[in-house]
Amino acid sequence: MNDYLAPTMRLYLEKLIDWGTVLERKGAVAPDLGAEVGAYRGVLETVAALAESFERPAREHWHREAELTEDGGATPPTHIREAYEALREAGLITLAVSEQYGGPGLPATLNGMYLEMLARADASLMTIVGLQAGAATDIERYGSEEIKAAYLPRFCSGEVQGAMDLTEPQAGSDLGGITTRCEEAADGTLRVDGTKIFITNGGAEVHLVLARDGDTYDDSKGTTNGLSLVLVPRHLEDGTRNAVRVSRLEEKLGIHGSPTCEVVFEGATGFRLGEKGQGFRAMLDLMNNARLGVAAQGLGVASAAFHAARAYADEREQFGQPIVKQPLVLSMLAKMAIDLEGARALLYRTFELIDHNEAREAALARGDATEEQATELRAALERDTARVRLLTPLCKYYATEVCDDITRDAMQVFGGIGYTMDADVAKLHADSLILTVYEGTSEIQASFALREMGKGALAVVAEQVRGELAAMDDEVRAPLARRVEAAIGEIEASVGVLFGDLGYALLRAKMFAEMVINVIAAAELLRQVEAEPGRIDLARAFVRRRMLETETKARRIQENAEGRLERDARVLSSLTDAS
Ligand SMILES: Cc1cc2nc3c(=O)[nH]c(=O)nc-3n(C[C@H](O)[C@H](O)[C@H](O)COP(=O)(O)OP(=O)(O)OC[C@H]3O[C@@H](n4cnc5c(N)ncnc54)[C@H](O)[C@@H]3O)c2cc1C
Repeated sequence: MNDYLAPTMRLYLEKLIDWGTVLERKGAVAPDLGAEVGAYRGVLETVAALAESFERPAREHWHREAELTEDGGATPPTHIREAYEALREAGLITLAVSEQYGGPGLPATLNGMYLEMLARADASLMTIVGLQAGAATDIERYGSEEIKAAYLPRFCSGEVQGAMDLTEPQAGSDLGGITTRCEEAADGTLRVDGTKIFITNGGAEVHLVLARDGDTYDDSKGTTNGLSLVLVPRHLEDGTRNAVRVSRLEEKLGIHGSPTCEVVFEGATGFRLGEKGQGFRAMLDLMNNARLGVAAQGLGVASAAFHAARAYADEREQFGQPIVKQPLVLSMLAKMAIDLEGARALLYRTFELIDHNEAREAALARGDATEEQATELRAALERDTARVRLLTPLCKYYATEVCDDITRDAMQVFGGIGYTMDADVAKLHADSLILTVYEGTSEIQASFALREMGKGALAVVAEQVRGELAAMDDEVRAPLARRVEAAIGEIEASVGVLFGDLGYALLRAKMFAEMVINVIAAAELLRQVEAEPGRIDLARAFVRRRMLETETKARRIQENAEGRLERDARVLSSLTDAS
């Protein structure tokens, strides 16, 4: 077996996740746990084998660009189309869609690992299948039965792909600026007019478009109210072309095989998903889903760079020995491994929470729980929904920032050849640079996380993590757990200073997000040790490095508040204003 199926994936699959509870709540009567987990493992092993087979063509044809097609679409290069066909033949498309609509209905954790492995092989391919899965999930959640029946089986068979159309020239991070308009026609369908830019896989058959409702257009302008989520197909039911076309493709620094398109809608027919005016809410679901997908993509790209650098450091000799024997090279590799595993810990914890939440929702929807059980399920669901809402932007932020660092360090390990296209690491770094931007920039993720913390999610998460740490009273983990508890205290001590001044809080949002990430990831790495004691050095290294960092950051936040915004502004003007 290749190493695409990472040891940490196996750990969650086989030891950490309580699949028994998840399956029972989902309605399985006396589930055969061994068989279920065996089936999950089988899926991941197939994905691992396929992904490995995609890696070489992806690196060799990395420069190949997507192309416009004559019928107003766009298509990725041949090697990506071939990889897609292989996934389709294996039935490995849209893993999370439920069986009722033709999907395998697999847990979120498996979907995340699948995306991570595909991204390790080819970040461009991953954007296509990731968006396809995300769009299908949103349709399952918000579409009418008619729309679901018409589209979901075609998504699951791989016949149609999806695109998410939000961005416009004046509406990037601020989606309140959207001007694309939708008007209701007499038959209840919508007519969509406008131009979207930077749309990944913009030649896809199904577009989920965020558009402003015509009847409240002027009143809602500049806000995220009055937006609808509209499904716009490229072809109508009778097979004719809809008025949607790709008008240009972007030239980019990386992910060349992923078509990044300008898409024009000229009175295109569309179908509303969810409620009128509530499109932003529905799109947020898709975006949150996609944010976790991009976090998985970050882990995949980072893991490709780490494995390449590790192998090279063993084989490259300087000063009469492999460079891995140089303490500075060893330290770079160890840092890469620690960061990668910290980000994995955070992301897999989040997926596990999502799987439990979905199972709780299924149990509540069935309505066969006792009153007492239902109350407990609802309380746990509420608590863990708050946790997921905070963890989602943190995962996106951390995994993609870590990916930039790891791919950059991998280039350093390769020395001069790392800067050339003979080694793959420069390609990986070029691919990585978009991850901190799309699906909401790192700054937007940090601000989102801050907002969730302000709404009470920090207290929920801190209480949960504290409870887990308090239970770690074995000789090996206890001193590390106490260290993490102390760091939580530092975070709480910073809250008063931060939240007293919104401007200052926003200025420190990334720093604060990193502090919170550090303690959650540390607790998760310590949890892993219980199942696999051999991971103690990893957990110890993370706790030692990151708790010190957290304490230092807390001091910076607490001691540097006074006049900080004004000082930064003065620094800029002292260097740029004419005196
Ligand atoms: C390759 C690629 C693929 C893409 N795919 C898609 C897609 O499929 N669908 C889609 O709809 N869009 C897509 N996008 C668009 C992408 O999501 C946006 O580029 C991104 O959200 C940032 O918007 P912007 O480029 O307008 O930057 P801006 O919003 O102008 O931001 C510029 C800078 O200001 C910062 N900034 C802005 N507002 C704030 C704030 N409130 N607080 C702190 N900092 C802030 C940003 O973090 C950034 O550093 C894609 C983009 C690219 C390059």
